[in-house]
Amino acid sequence: MEKFKGEGVIDFFDKFQTDLDCLEYLAFRKWESGYTCKKCSHRKYTIRKSNFARDCNRCHHIESPTANTLFHKVKFGIRKAFVILFEMSATSKSISSSQMAKRLTIHRSTAWLFMHKVRISMKSSESMPIKGLVTVDEFVFGGQEDLKPGRSNDSKKKKIVAAVETDAKGGIKRAYFKKIDDYSSTSLITIFDTHISTKPKISTDKWSGYKPLMKVYNITQTKSDKGNTFFEMNTIIHQVKSWMRSTFSWMHEGHIEKYLDEYSYRLNRSNYKESIFDNLVCRMIKHQHAGLKDIKLSA
Ligand SMILES: [Zn+2]
Repeated sequence: MEKFKGEGVIDFFDKFQTDLDCLEYLAFRKWESGYTCKKCSHRKYTIRKSNFARDCNRCHHIESPTANTLFHKVKFGIRKAFVILFEMSATSKSISSSQMAKRLTIHRSTAWLFMHKVRISMKSSESMPIKGLVTVDEFVFGGQEDLKPGRSNDSKKKKIVAAVETDAKGGIKRAYFKKIDDYSSTSLITIFDTHISTKPKISTDKWSGYKPLMKVYNITQTKSDKGNTFFEMNTIIHQVKSWMRSTFSWMHEGHIEKYLDEYSYRLNRSNYKESIFDNLVCRMIKHQHAGLKDIKLSA
């Protein structure tokens, strides 16, 4: 078995023709570096032909390829789940859960729940903070929004802070987003602490909320001249807003960060499209099972 590479839709459907093909792939990626029985730690097993599960040779505990992963309890067919992963990783924009449901003839709420599980696996590991050139700025989304970047205190709008890493030529390398309740330094610091190392040169506008963070971070403040100073940042803000507006008819405030995680995941891997689908499969395998209660908002 070889890793799936690329963005080719024909290649994809050639490789994954049945649910069993997908289960075999999951088993291959899950136990690539060896199998250990979860119950007795024995390392020898027999493969069950019906679903590629591992049957422990000592205690006969059976572990399926989907057990303890985000594919657990997928009732609509693992191949359809693979199509969702392919759509959300290898294509540039993905689609809404209602469109996905129509395409795959599954219930809309089923598509909605599974796509949120995929977004959970897409969340940044937060283990590679930005060390290069970075710009931080805030924007709003929703309500009667205008398209201008910058702060607004309209309570109907969702407030978001973004960090965009660029290379020396101004090319965009990575972008991260966090939903914030207000523009205070206590709210703004979350994106710094999560995604930016204390070393790089960070550009912000003249907003006073960034001032207290200058004790820890190397921040240079520049007057924002209607967006020209932050060209790359404004490009990203424009793209993420138009993606959210055109793809999803409605977005609950409590879920907005998951959609932003999805956007970041694809954007930050634009140079690694060859391996993006396989990477997402592995993330789904490594992530513990999540159910509706983990995704539904408690409010
Ligand atoms: Zn065992």
